[in-house]
Amino acid sequence: MAFPGTGLIWMNGKFVEWDQAQIHVASHVIHYGSGVFEGARCYDTRNGPACFRLDAHIRRLIDSAKIYRMEVPYDQQQISDAVVDLIKRNGFKACYIRPLVYRGYDSLGVNPFPCPVDVAIMLWEWGAYFTKEAIEEGLDVKISTWARNAPNTMPSMAKSVANYANSQLIKMEAILEGYAEGIALDTDGNLSEGSGQNIFIVRDGVIHTPPVGSSILSGITRDSVVTIARDLGFDVREQVLPREMLYVADEVFFVGTAVEVTPIKSVDKIKVGRGRRGPITEALQQRFFDIVRGDAADTHGWLQHLETPQAATSGSSTRR
Ligand code: PMP
Repeated sequence: MAFPGTGLIWMNGKFVEWDQAQIHVASHVIHYGSGVFEGARCYDTRNGPACFRLDAHIRRLIDSAKIYRMEVPYDQQQISDAVVDLIKRNGFKACYIRPLVYRGYDSLGVNPFPCPVDVAIMLWEWGAYFTKEAIEEGLDVKISTWARNAPNTMPSMAKSVANYANSQLIKMEAILEGYAEGIALDTDGNLSEGSGQNIFIVRDGVIHTPPVGSSILSGITRDSVVTIARDLGFDVREQVLPREMLYVADEVFFVGTAVEVTPIKSVDKIKVGRGRRGPITEALQQRFFDIVRGDAADTHGWLQHLETPQAATSGSSTRR
């Protein structure tokens, strides 16, 4: 399937047509993976389009850049404003949001410092990452032969483009072996995360997820699901989890901006629980979707509403 992109892309403060948004092949990022990025979503809620936790995503973008000693020439507010402006100009109601900070064109030594730090923001309409069937019934996954990056190698807290070389190895292996997704362990053999999603396990009504020290990306959906679960009265524990917890779990599910909340029905061909979506997964999924669709109260202030061009002219702005 060809990339479905259309509309404008924001590049260093300018709005550029999708087909014109190009960089030079000698850009540092292409050769050495010197870039950090984000993936957020704008939902078409019952109160109009709204970005989900955009502030948290842009903060993580700035944090990722800081870890890699990149001085971003825009602050958090300017990038957030640019995202909102771009969504409005493109007239999207629901879209995936991809800000990217990268080392551009200057020289091709490994030393990145001479290269400029460039910023781009692109949007595209992207529905569910897995099928509707998967969201209701669950995925068949395998534990990858590839581990996540060891501590003190590639920082997993930074959402760096370079980390996704490891993600691609995990994803390709899973696909070629007939699975929807792979789960990586950390280099100690404990549970880490999927190629692009965090993981949760339920056993005896208690919800577990690996801690930030288990080579995971500190996911914003993970944080939201922990909060939602605690709001619903569940006991949630962030703790180091051995691989075999997956095999004896009552429920296992992935979370992430792209996958939202997606159940897992088997791991390494071992059935999870009864081999279908469990009740706690379903309750958390329901709550998550209710919040992002605007059907439940946004008690944590996660939705940033934006006026559509139409609403702007009729004066019914809901933007905060
Ligand atoms: N882990 C990895 C490796 C990811 O790429 C993602 C997606 N950004 C996640 C976890 C989930 O993070 P979030 O909920 O912030 O999208």
